[in-house]
Amino acid sequence: MNPRLPSKLPQVGTTIFTVMSKLAADCGAINLSQGFPDFSAPQHLFDLVTQHIAAGRNQYAPLPGVAPLREAIAEKVADLYRANYDVDQEITVTAGATQAIFTAIAACVRPGDEVIVFAPVYDSYVPGIELNGGKALYAHLQAPDYLPDWDEVASLITPKTRMIIINSPHNPSGAVWSAADLERLAALLRNTDIIVVSDEVYEHVVFDGMHHQSLAAHEELRQRSFVVSSFGKTYHITGWKIAYCLAPRELMQEFRKAHQFVVFVVNHPMQLALADFMREHPEFARGLAAFYQAKRDFFRNQLSGSRFELLPCRGTYFQLVHYGAISDEPDTVFAQRMTREHGVAVIPVSVFYPQGDDHRIVRFCFAKNEETLVAAGTRLRAV
Ligand code: PMP
Ligand code: GLN
Repeated sequence: MNPRLPSKLPQVGTTIFTVMSKLAADCGAINLSQGFPDFSAPQHLFDLVTQHIAAGRNQYAPLPGVAPLREAIAEKVADLYRANYDVDQEITVTAGATQAIFTAIAACVRPGDEVIVFAPVYDSYVPGIELNGGKALYAHLQAPDYLPDWDEVASLITPKTRMIIINSPHNPSGAVWSAADLERLAALLRNTDIIVVSDEVYEHVVFDGMHHQSLAAHEELRQRSFVVSSFGKTYHITGWKIAYCLAPRELMQEFRKAHQFVVFVVNHPMQLALADFMREHPEFARGLAAFYQAKRDFFRNQLSGSRFELLPCRGTYFQLVHYGAISDEPDTVFAQRMTREHGVAVIPVSVFYPQGDDHRIVRFCFAKNEETLVAAGTRLRAV
């Protein structure tokens, strides 16, 4: 007899990123859907991995991550954000930001707890909350700027609020929060026990002279925050699934209790290689904003003369467009048709909303070689 298993996630199917990347591959379309670069990380980073493998660093890494990598992270964070995180107790290397965020939720959220998120919301947060018995409450980010309405956020706070999950620079909108946003957040959370998870995977991808406002840099918010970044985004290695989490000692203690049973430890030789590379090439991360700003501008230029209406893009490697001048189809249908008939795969933005709100907006990933963007541009101008 088959066991009966009521789903813990009845509303959830396969993630849109997997669905669209598969459809792109099946159709031979240019894949501007799932967010990943189609160019390589520096060869030197690969050589370093090979060296560490050859040197025999192939068994389990230490639980919090290898010391040289935690030291390199501490130095970077001190340098960029004037924040001192203790190398032994306040920094943990994780198997991607997804695992860091899930682990922070699992460590803190109990059945019945409420967690505030912002819609459009990155797709892993709410399943993470619900698997741990929590309930997501949604604040809304409105096009074209997708910035928080702090009065709405205030209205969502109840005695049951355990956590708020924030994400700047924001996927999918490319919105970037200001210092004033952080002040509003700090004021709202003052005198509460609410924990913050700050998803900062695009911390180095902020444009037009704006500065990333890390919670690590905010004296007050830092005390209640898990700050998450991802090497996948910074070093063009999304397939390595290595990231890190920063948090004050007491929070990190609870995080590690869960971390050790979710994943235990993270890929050893690649951590060592990243530690070497960070030390040898601090300029790499610092140059990322200019690198991606040039790609953003190049891609936006490709779309000029098309019928797509460009929304602002202040950070990340995603560009939103409104396609109302082309079609009135639902965005999921439009995304499929773009892939099958026009040969360019995109992400429909309705999938980032709990009720599937459809504003006829789709997301392009511009972390691509110029040839890819030119080829996509030719097809998109013909739509
Ligand atoms: N958060 C956001 C906002 C992301 O865009 C992504 C990946 N694109 C992640 C988390 C997950 O990062 P990782 O691949 O390191 O798990
Ligand atoms: N975060 C990436 C995106 O937004 C994809 C990561 C994934 O496929 N889970 O496209």
